[in-house]
Amino acid sequence: MHEDSSSGSPGATPRLSAVIARCEALYHDVDLRTVHDWRAARGGRKVVGYMPIYVPRELIDAAGMLPVGIMGGRGQVEIIRGDAWFQSYICQIPRSTIELALTGRLDVLDGMLFPSICDVIRNLSGMWKVKFPGKYVRYFDVPQNYEPEVGGRFYREELRHLYADLRRLSGTTEDADETLRRSIARYNENRRVIGELLELRAKEPWRVPTYESYLVLFAGNVLPVEEHTALVREYIAAALESDRPRRDNARVVLTGAFCEQPPIELIRTLELAGCYVVSDDTALGRRWPTEDVSTEGDPLLALATGFLRHSPPTAARYEPHGDRGEPLVTLVKKQRAEGVVLAAPSFCDPALLEQPILQDTLDAARVPWTAFKYAENLGQFQVIREQAGTFADSIKLWSEP
Ligand code: SF4
Repeated sequence: MHEDSSSGSPGATPRLSAVIARCEALYHDVDLRTVHDWRAARGGRKVVGYMPIYVPRELIDAAGMLPVGIMGGRGQVEIIRGDAWFQSYICQIPRSTIELALTGRLDVLDGMLFPSICDVIRNLSGMWKVKFPGKYVRYFDVPQNYEPEVGGRFYREELRHLYADLRRLSGTTEDADETLRRSIARYNENRRVIGELLELRAKEPWRVPTYESYLVLFAGNVLPVEEHTALVREYIAAALESDRPRRDNARVVLTGAFCEQPPIELIRTLELAGCYVVSDDTALGRRWPTEDVSTEGDPLLALATGFLRHSPPTAARYEPHGDRGEPLVTLVKKQRAEGVVLAAPSFCDPALLEQPILQDTLDAARVPWTAFKYAENLGQFQVIREQAGTFADSIKLWSEP
């Protein structure tokens, strides 16, 4: 049996507890009070929201506005009107997002970007246009072709249009290229420090529980990028000072949670059940692209090239070479993981359609896996705890050394 450490953060110093408390407050802030405060302190500067998974936040930042990640209701929003807007057999995130909007909790947003993920998000962007005609709304397409002369040119044009729109929305007159290069540099730094955090988690997962790393990444949805970079640094420094016991947990990769986010308690449940999550695809947009974007030359071309060359493998992105399983097996080896947890939001086509492919490849590579579905408003975790606990125990008992 694994020790129950559900109360507080065991082994946390006051410094670490303070960082986590701040992140928990931001996570639970579905009314976006932090964003209202940011705006009030800056004379009413504008704010643009975006849905998961990926939008080039650099463009919003460079236009002088705050990019705000809208990651659903996190189980804290009672869906009253949202259900009337969607059929019953789709995922939860569009319902909670429209509920947030219809109840005025997203009024602080001057615009909203809907990245090209699936038909559900596309439909949601149409609803936004109908329901909020005074707001800027854009369905943001990404390339399905990875040739620089084809998909690259298309994507640079998309970026050019979006950036021009955003600059019009904010009314900025600053130099477009120079401000964008500065913004790219800020996001590069942010992604690098997130990379350091995730490397530390993979190396010493007892020091960086995924419950905490997730909260730290989530805070980037509402904080200005430089403030988030400082927060991640503060967390890393505090985590390195902490003294936490190393447990005989199973190292697992969590995948499939790229859009609708699992409840934070589900992540904690996996850890309490004996899993060290050494890699995951939650909050994936925070780490996309996976390498620095060039700060030289044409910044729009640099962003387009970054997307073409350094997008992470995910079901929500067109994969030109078609093989979705091998990157996962490679990741398992790189992270020295002992198993894979295939989690997927209920009714999520992108995540669920690729699961059989992933399962076959994992079987062929003799990597143990387990699979379950979740919803962001899931309230009962006992079944998942038992399933994950059995999975972790079976890895420890029967896996080949
Ligand atoms: S959870 Fe899946 S189906 Fe739902 S909006 Fe996201 S990608 Fe689309």
